[in-house]
Amino acid sequence: MGFILMPEWLNKVIDIREIVKMDVDELITLLNKELSDEWLAYYQYWIGAKVVKGPMKDAVIAELTLHATEELGHAELISTRIIQLGGTPVLSPEEWLKLTNCGYDAPVDQYVEEILNQNIKGEQCAIKVYSELLEITRVGDPVTYNIILQILSQEVEHEEDLTALKEDPELMLERRR
Ligand code: FE
Ligand code: FE
Ligand code: MG
Repeated sequence: MGFILMPEWLNKVIDIREIVKMDVDELITLLNKELSDEWLAYYQYWIGAKVVKGPMKDAVIAELTLHATEELGHAELISTRIIQLGGTPVLSPEEWLKLTNCGYDAPVDQYVEEILNQNIKGEQCAIKVYSELLEITRVGDPVTYNIILQILSQEVEHEEDLTALKEDPELMLERRR
């Protein structure tokens, strides 16, 4: 009867939490706050696209709808990372408003300029919060850092797209004067 010698490292299951050089529970909490922000951003875009009124409405609807889908993509990336880290993504929408960094602006005033302003404000907040998380994870958790960098790049793009859309009707109205 022989036996196979197994290299020692094969016997040791690598704990994903061991390669993170920061407090994992604290990281999971921060990621759950971001996950709440993303769901609120998703709905704010989605409902904004349904109710928006005013000039250049069709172009704005197309952009808001695309951004909604992209915010949902961010929620997907963040929740996957939370699970990889051994955490539980927020389980109830009730938690979103408690955990959010950037809050939620209901499009009560449905004029196109107001809806664009609300979403620009949301993007600026997202950029600020993700920049901070990028700093926190740079050394502590390169895998999360890489995910946050992808998301942050898209939030910057969102902010620019909305600002450009807001300038279009402004230019149009200026020429009429
Ligand atoms: Fe996002
Ligand atoms: Fe965004
Ligand atoms: Mg866009």
